[in-house]
Amino acid sequence: MYIHIPFCKQACHYCDFHFSTSVKKKPEMVEAICKELLLRKDEIKDEVETIYFGGGTPSLLSAEELEQIFEVIFNNYKIAETPEITLEANPDDLTEEKIKMLATSPVNRLSIGVQSFFEQDLKLMNRAHNAEEALESIKLAKQQFNNISIDLIYGIPGMSNERWKENLKIALELGVPHISSYALTVEPKTALKSMIEKGKIAPVEEELAKEQYEIMIEELASAGFDNYEFSNFGKPGYFSRNNTAYWFGKPYLGIGPSAHSFDGFHRKWNVSNNTLYIKALQKGEIPAEVEKLSVSDRYNELVMTRLRTKWGIAVDEVERSFGIKYKDYLLREAAKLIQDGMLEWNDSRLQVSKKGKFLSDGIAAELFWVEE
Ligand code: SF4
Repeated sequence: MYIHIPFCKQACHYCDFHFSTSVKKKPEMVEAICKELLLRKDEIKDEVETIYFGGGTPSLLSAEELEQIFEVIFNNYKIAETPEITLEANPDDLTEEKIKMLATSPVNRLSIGVQSFFEQDLKLMNRAHNAEEALESIKLAKQQFNNISIDLIYGIPGMSNERWKENLKIALELGVPHISSYALTVEPKTALKSMIEKGKIAPVEEELAKEQYEIMIEELASAGFDNYEFSNFGKPGYFSRNNTAYWFGKPYLGIGPSAHSFDGFHRKWNVSNNTLYIKALQKGEIPAEVEKLSVSDRYNELVMTRLRTKWGIAVDEVERSFGIKYKDYLLREAAKLIQDGMLEWNDSRLQVSKKGKFLSDGIAAELFWVEE
């Protein structure tokens, strides 16, 4: 289960997620989220294994608001005995009091949006927290939680490889068991894009991002982290169960504005507008669009997501799920990439090689089924 909390204190320059910087409608939003949870309770037949509060900034929820949402979930859904319940939090929200409140709630995993431990990087990205808060929030969180993940961004204009190494060193010294790390990407209609276009910020260099990705792979591997998905690194026992389920194509229910849902055959996405979302739910309607995925859509998604994981693509699963036609197609297309050293076999699984790693999205595209 994914719950989108669409509010942020300020807009990070690179962000193209759905959020509003006005929290005026937070109480109505929480009401609407609870209503959606109620209306859609029959969509999940099985036990809920994981709950993920993402955003936006879920750490902006008060104790009462969080309780309100949990009450609806626990009273209306079958929850697994030991669910993973993650809440994304920004360092500036993680006061001692807030962390204690979260520790007494059902939340058992924190994902902290650190991004960098350096002031220059945080300023350039317009993050709401400073370097000291980044450090302090993790130290405080560790007193109450052991399942902690942090986000770090590489490829930031002006961030040298030395500073990137220092970021990784600090993260390792703090002893977090999970790190998610993404290259800074310049999305359309973001402040970052317009600042680069106006020459106020140096452009993002792909070559530098690649170097920093390689540094991270090496540093984190020698510290005992498993790079189980392209952007995710975990100590044994600390892989994100929520994200792993998503990469393995398990159904999920997405609640809140802009949230996506997947039932195995259809993709549904809620409207990305807080006012429209709240108004619809007040009338008992769910403002969503639905798309039925074709067999080739589902095959392409499997290729895309699995290739990014350390488990790769199980060829027998492709045959079981989509038929021999797709398996033969996959083997034919993969042959060229194996020859070029981009893909390799591990038992009956196709995985990206070390050489192909940074190019895994492009490699996946080569294996896609394109309808005539
Ligand atoms: S806090 Fe997260 S969701 Fe909000 S603007 Fe920044 S990156 Fe986007």
